[in-house]
Amino acid sequence: MTLQPTIGVLAVQGDVREHVRALESAGARAVAVRRPSEVEAIDGLVIPGGESTTMDKLCRIFDLRDPLVARLRAGMPAYGSCAGMIMLADRILDGHRDQQTLGGLDITVRRNAFGRQVDSFEDDLRIRELGPEPVRAVFIRAPWVEETGDDVHVLASVHVGGADHPVAVRQGDIVATSFHPEVTGDHRFHQYFVDVVRQR
Ligand code: GLN
Repeated sequence: MTLQPTIGVLAVQGDVREHVRALESAGARAVAVRRPSEVEAIDGLVIPGGESTTMDKLCRIFDLRDPLVARLRAGMPAYGSCAGMIMLADRILDGHRDQQTLGGLDITVRRNAFGRQVDSFEDDLRIRELGPEPVRAVFIRAPWVEETGDDVHVLASVHVGGADHPVAVRQGDIVATSFHPEVTGDHRFHQYFVDVVRQR
């Protein structure tokens, strides 16, 4: 068990700094990941919010895609927020035509899923794994999870249009949220992920 795990934040695009701060306050050493060599040196990975189509392109241009996919397949813990959830999904709906994901989570994710109702909104979610206090969830052009495989555990859902849509999921050591816990100052979700990495 590593007491202070080193967690990389994919730093090609998106809200990298907020995740670095949240991870540090949850007791991890946080490092930006921009080069293939940096992918080898981390115990876990955070993929931030931003724009998944851009992140996908930049991962390919910077030769990060293959090493990231290899480490995810080998079981590296990962946490993806919003665009990061899309990057970790095995399947994607409403993606750009040639958009690829890294994969790892046996889910189908729908990009900009709440878009027809509202662009951005906040909600209080109960997530049993984080304790009794609800989590303030900030959604910004967020995806939701449309389908989950048998091994995927739903941590939280949002009720929209008469149906429950998962917005926080875990499969093994990979977790993802449609929302942005890094912007609220409540670092319980990052703590939860740091503990996943420590326990590995
Ligand atoms: N809509 C963005 C995408 O498709 C995600 C938005 C976000 O990360 N806040 O990548």
